[in-house]
Amino acid sequence: MPALAISRITLRRLILSLSMGSVLIMLILGGTGIYGIQRTQLMDDTLASNQAFAQKLAASASDFLTQAQNDLAYSAKQIAQFGTNPAVMQMEANHLHLQGAKFHSVSITSAQGIILAISPETLQISGRKVPAVDPQTAVLRKKTPTISKPFTTILGNLAILLTHPLYSPQNEYLGYLAGTVYLKADGGLSRLIKQHYFRNDTYVYLVDSSRRLLYHPDPNRLGTIVGTNPVVTAVLSGQTGAERITNSQGVDMLAGYAYIPGAKWGVVVQRPTEVTLEKLSTLMQRVMWLSLLPVLLLLAALWFLSTWISRPLRALSHIMQTGYDGNAAERIRSVRCWYSEAQHLQKALLAGTDTVISRLSQLREEAYQDPLTGLGNRRGLDIALQALESTGQTFSVLALDIDFFKRINDHYGHDVGDQVIRQMGELMRSQARNGDSLFRMGGEEFLTLLPGTPVDNALTIAERLRAAVEASPLLPQERVTISIGIAAWGPDSARRVADTLKEADLALYQAKQNGRNRVERSA
Ligand code: GH3
Ligand code: MG
Ligand code: MG
Repeated sequence: MPALAISRITLRRLILSLSMGSVLIMLILGGTGIYGIQRTQLMDDTLASNQAFAQKLAASASDFLTQAQNDLAYSAKQIAQFGTNPAVMQMEANHLHLQGAKFHSVSITSAQGIILAISPETLQISGRKVPAVDPQTAVLRKKTPTISKPFTTILGNLAILLTHPLYSPQNEYLGYLAGTVYLKADGGLSRLIKQHYFRNDTYVYLVDSSRRLLYHPDPNRLGTIVGTNPVVTAVLSGQTGAERITNSQGVDMLAGYAYIPGAKWGVVVQRPTEVTLEKLSTLMQRVMWLSLLPVLLLLAALWFLSTWISRPLRALSHIMQTGYDGNAAERIRSVRCWYSEAQHLQKALLAGTDTVISRLSQLREEAYQDPLTGLGNRRGLDIALQALESTGQTFSVLALDIDFFKRINDHYGHDVGDQVIRQMGELMRSQARNGDSLFRMGGEEFLTLLPGTPVDNALTIAERLRAAVEASPLLPQERVTISIGIAAWGPDSARRVADTLKEADLALYQAKQNGRNRVERSA
């Protein structure tokens, strides 16, 4: 049978890798799950707040424009009521310019395009004809309230123009009132947008219907056209919403946007996605650092547990590996098995060990025993003699032989012969004293060791045994007798123990010679 290969995988390693693997997988799954949820949540929150912010700004800008247009309309009504008196017009222009701080300058232009009044008066352009370029000429043609595209003023500032037509009470077109709103940093609209609280890295821009920047934190971009930007396209098509986009500069942005219907403008509030998620990365790092100690404690606990669980099985398997010795059972019993499988195993091993040990001692006994009579055999005699020799104690030897045994075999058969041999063993046992050792040397020859017995006592014992055999009905129609030879050994004896056995044999031979059914002692 081929030897079973023993795996290098141990139970402890299995438990450890299984539990640690589970912990790590759970940590990774939990971590990525939480990260994913938080990331989506954070981005959604940012998108929603940017949209809300854009809507708020759109409402404010819309209010600003409505108010500015209302102011112009109110003044237009005043002028119409009081006629095109230059003083009234100048007063209205001044009033509009100074009140509310919405307009950087206010002008009143006639239907022929002649500037009738201007505030501040320092501009000194009254009486000039407006340049025949947009936006003013267009306004003259439209004769309705307008909000212009951004343009560069005579003084070189980027501005938009809000106008309102002037009609006489007879509904005759007289010209228009115009207020400029500067788009530069200190302009009314910029102030309005800047008034609002800005979170870090979040910024706002404002575009008109031709994608031109009316407001941007970077002053250099004012008046420039925004290129391909899906959010600008969306907001200028009248939508309000939020979207994650890559802006015209190639930056990943979370943008909220809102449309300003009156002016057909769009407000975009955006924040780089990376900045938004930076906080999350820092948070996750903190979480990881904070969970480091508990995780390490958990791993240590798993280490300890795996050792604790595997210990009984390891101890039992170690005992099995080192083989059965005299106290194997004791060692197995001393293993602390605290759960049922280990306890069952321990029980089974104990039962197995008991069986092995009793079997071994049985084998040992059999090795020294004669199977027919249960007396000791030659090997047993050797051991007993060694023991006697080592103690140096006096002892006597009886050598026994059944007389005419061949004849018994011949008459009654071998089985009856065996029966007689067995009964002889029993008889010897019944006659023996405590401490006497009985052996069958082979055939119908026996030997008795009588430790501590001098030869005279041995003679008495031998005689008693001989008589007992003679008196026993071992065979129905025939007497069975034995002859016995005796020898003795003492510490002062010059001979070796083995020689004593030979002397007993010689004495036995003598007994046979002298007629059998008798006892003889060596000379
Ligand atoms: P003596 O009086 O001189 O001893 O005569 P004996 O016939 O007994 O002669 P011996 O002791 O030499 O013969 C022993 C015989 O015992 C020889 C053999 O056939 C027989 N024998 C030996 N071993 C066994 C055995 O185990 N069983 C049986 N039934 N017979 C055995
Ligand atoms: Mg014989
Ligand atoms: Mg014989």
